[in-house]
Formats: sequence, C-alpha cells, structure tokens
Amino acid sequence: AVEVTLSGRTRVFTVSNQKGGVGKTTTAVNISAALASLGAKVLVIDLDPQGNASTALGVPHNADTASIYDVLIDEFPLSDIIQTSPESPNLLCAPSTIHLAGAEIELVSQVAREHRLRGALRDYLADEGNHLDFVIIDCPPSLGLLTINAFTAADEVLIPIQCEYYALEGLSQLLGSVQMIQKHLNPALHVSTILLTMYDGRTRLAQQVADEVREHFSDEVLRTVIPRSVRVSEAPSFGQTVIAYDGHSAGAIAYREAAVEIVGRDTTMKED
Ligand code: ADP
Ligand code: MG
Repeated sequence: AVEVTLSGRTRVFTVSNQKGGVGKTTTAVNISAALASLGAKVLVIDLDPQGNASTALGVPHNADTASIYDVLIDEFPLSDIIQTSPESPNLLCAPSTIHLAGAEIELVSQVAREHRLRGALRDYLADEGNHLDFVIIDCPPSLGLLTINAFTAADEVLIPIQCEYYALEGLSQLLGSVQMIQKHLNPALHVSTILLTMYDGRTRLAQQVADEVREHFSDEVLRTVIPRSVRVSEAPSFGQTVIAYDGHSAGAIAYREAAVEIVGRDTTMKED
C-alpha cells in the first residue's frame, strides 16, 4: 500500500470550472474516494442541485433527505445531514437534494449569504470528535451564490480540464472569479491544483491541450493525467466511485496517483 503523511490540518478544496460536463463531479468523488483509500478522512459536500456526487457516493438523496439545503437555508448543523458512503468509513457526504435548486434564490435575502457554508464547516470542525483531512466541494457550473459559498469556504481551487477542443475556454473567466473572491471575500483562496482529465493518448489534440496547459500553469498541473475510460463513466450508475467499482482499472489507478500527489504538495502549509 502507498504510504502518505497527512498534515493534520483540514484542507478544503472546491472543484470548479464554469463549464458543465468537464469532469468536476467525477473528479470530486474519485479524488475523495482515493484520498479515503489512502487513510484520509474526507467529506464531500455536494453543492450541485443535480446531486450527481451524492449518487456516485451511494448516498440516499431523495426529496425527504436532510441535505446541504437545510444547512444553507435553515442553519442545520452539518453533523445532522452528513452520511457515510457505503464505500468507506473514511468517506463522508453532505448530500444535495432537488431543494437546492431553490437555494440560489432563497440565499439572496439571507444574512451572511456568501458565508453560510464556511460558518457551518467551522462549527462542525470546532467539535473535537469531527476531524477531517479533506473537504471536497462539488460545485454547479454557474457562478451563483452556491459556488460563491464554496469559494468562501475553501482555501484551494481544483480545476479539472478536459483534454479536448475549447478546453481553455472560460478558464480566464474562472481565474477572474477566483481573483474577485480573493479580493472581496476570501484572501486565502488560490488555484492550487489543475488536473488534466478525459485524456485520450491516441489523439494529437489531447497531447496539444496537455502541453498548452502545462506551459501556462506549470506549478499547478498535476503530473498524473486521468485517462478517458469507460469504467470511470459507468461507475456512478452503480452508485460507486471507480475506486470501489474497479480498483484495478486505469482510471482508478490514475485517481489514486493524483490523490498521492495532492497529499504531497500542500501549498497552504507554507503559510502556517
Ligand atoms: P461536470 O460535473 O463537470 O458536469 P461530470 O463529472 O459529470 O462533469 O462528467 C461529465 C461526463 O463525462 C459524465 O458522463 C462522466 O461520466 C464523463 N467522464 C468524466 N470523466 C471521465 C473519464 N475520465 N473517462 C470517461 N468519461 C468521463
Ligand atoms: Mg457535476
């Protein structure tokens, strides 16, 4: 087994990209499951009303399930809504339900509307029994109040980039949003990690996109690249991450390698 040393601090990531279908949710759940398999205690916060992360983690999230909506709008403590994924006792999920679709509007009139998630997480971690090594927040594609709550709760932004045409489109907009949040709401926020995904080594285009991203973001891009793989895409329909679904597949191996890299390159530690 791979050995990793955890910092003892809680690292909070938001997985963001203002494009849909680029692998945000896939990356959020599989990196989380991979980190959990390395011995880290991980909480996935599903902030997308679609609830795909909750589904992939095998966590119930029907309309009656207590969810992140109740935390953001009705100030439920996180401990009231967190479930454990059947995959691992180390893998927790704050599920999303369909109600979250209304939260974007409902938050507008709330006090501290940009900081709701940060406050809930701080309260959760203040309880001695609740240590977490990683919090991974899965965001919807839009820059609304849900995504802003993720940006204020996180220190690190993880950007998955699809190795395809137009991969870099929207990236400067995302970086602009991060800068704006840094300036006005959360000075600690920074893009720490870029993960190239859906990589198809047979195409020259994939290689070109990878080279271009590495040229622009040499410090942020992980060495590990996630291959395009059917096993990765079919895992969620079994309510599983690829780590549990087919741990020996190329996708599972790549996500575990990426997780090891993430543990080893703690950019926030320098600030302590
Ligand atoms: P987002 O959350 O950004 O909208 P998803 O994670 O839902 O994107 O991914 C979009 C689609 O791409 C999904 O159908 C998913 O199964 C598929 N996908 C993601 N990563 C891979 C991969 N490495 N190989 C094959 N399919 C993938
Ligand atoms: Mg998604």
